[in-house]
Amino acid sequence: MEKLRNKFIAFMYGRNGADSLYKASVAVYFAMAAANLFLRSAILSILMWALFIWATFRCFSKNVYKRSLENQAFLRIEEKAARKFKMTKTMLTDKEHCYKKCSHCKAYLRLPKRSGTHTAVCPKCGEKLTVRIR
Ligand SMILES: [Zn+2]
Repeated sequence: MEKLRNKFIAFMYGRNGADSLYKASVAVYFAMAAANLFLRSAILSILMWALFIWATFRCFSKNVYKRSLENQAFLRIEEKAARKFKMTKTMLTDKEHCYKKCSHCKAYLRLPKRSGTHTAVCPKCGEKLTVRIR
């Protein structure tokens, strides 16, 4: 068993291995497999195979630099989506504040929920905004 383990370690040396993008693609693969239990779609099966081949190729690829760039691009997208999800959750649960987007720099402004028309200054870009809160 130890011999087999050492052979695998020697095989994986210099290869990309399981990074975040690989783990996410495996998760997507299993979600697609679960969906395909009910849908029984040929197109979905082809997409699953393509995803499986691509994920396996990435895992065993020796071009670690290129795979690392792909993984970093994925992590940036994932972080952006997580930040947006968190912001949406905050906006939905926070009942004491009102959230408005700056028209100049697209930053979110957290304003106290007082009805009427107010002037707010964006802390990021300094733009003066006229905000109407109902
Ligand atoms: Zn701004």
